[in-house]
Amino acid sequence: MKIRLDQVVKTFDTFRAVHGVSLDIESGQLVALLGPSGSGKTTILRMVAGLEYADGGHIYFGDQDATDIPVRDRGVGFVFQHYALFPHMTVAENIAFGMKVSKTKRSKPEIATRVDELLRLVKLEGLDDRFPGQISGGQRQRVALARALAVDPKVLLLDEPFGALDANVRRDLRRWLREIHDELGITTLFVTHDQEEALDLADRVVILDQGRIVQEGTPAEVCRAPNSAFVMQFLGDAN
Ligand code: ADP
Repeated sequence: MKIRLDQVVKTFDTFRAVHGVSLDIESGQLVALLGPSGSGKTTILRMVAGLEYADGGHIYFGDQDATDIPVRDRGVGFVFQHYALFPHMTVAENIAFGMKVSKTKRSKPEIATRVDELLRLVKLEGLDDRFPGQISGGQRQRVALARALAVDPKVLLLDEPFGALDANVRRDLRRWLREIHDELGITTLFVTHDQEEALDLADRVVILDQGRIVQEGTPAEVCRAPNSAFVMQFLGDAN
């Protein structure tokens, strides 16, 4: 699913968090929104998901204006920074939850089969009866991703998915997310303030500052030719 943002604006009371952002995300691409805290990354992600409404401009899913698509029909899977798993549900129940609330009704055996497939995909076989408190942070984030994938999304949105984890786990999860992305080919937009993560993982990197895109391109392009003092300093901080 191709996603296009055309002059998208978002204002909270009198504060403009997003200033006319235009962006094309090609079908199957993995795109990073990179920028310092407060630059508008999460707000953009939430507008694509339909959790916030833009008060100017348009967001298109394919050729369709997103405002014409009810949130539950957008085919979006969302992974939050802090997992947002239900602590009183097992791993399998957490993953199945997404399917139970989705429009496509599945029978109990169908749900069980799909949960098994997803557990294999995220390499968590055998942990289906554990509770979130009994597994590691990295494993919890894999459960969160499996839950997001349970509805067969056309678009995957991840908000600082690995932010709370330590550097080694983050590196492993990056490699693994890339593998899953390449296997499933889902259009993916993820938010991070971690330059290394964005440059390592994404097909395209979009750098934001104060609600505006200041540069976008492949990781090699933005590193080779930072187009402003801001980008140079921001990327320089990574080294
Ligand atoms: P980032 O994800 O890059 O850290 P955000 O999109 O979360 O940035 O926020 C961008 C700006 O919008 C920040 O200044 C933030 O305080 C403000 N903001 C975000 N959500 C709200 C809200 N619900 N109400 C008021 N201000 C908000």
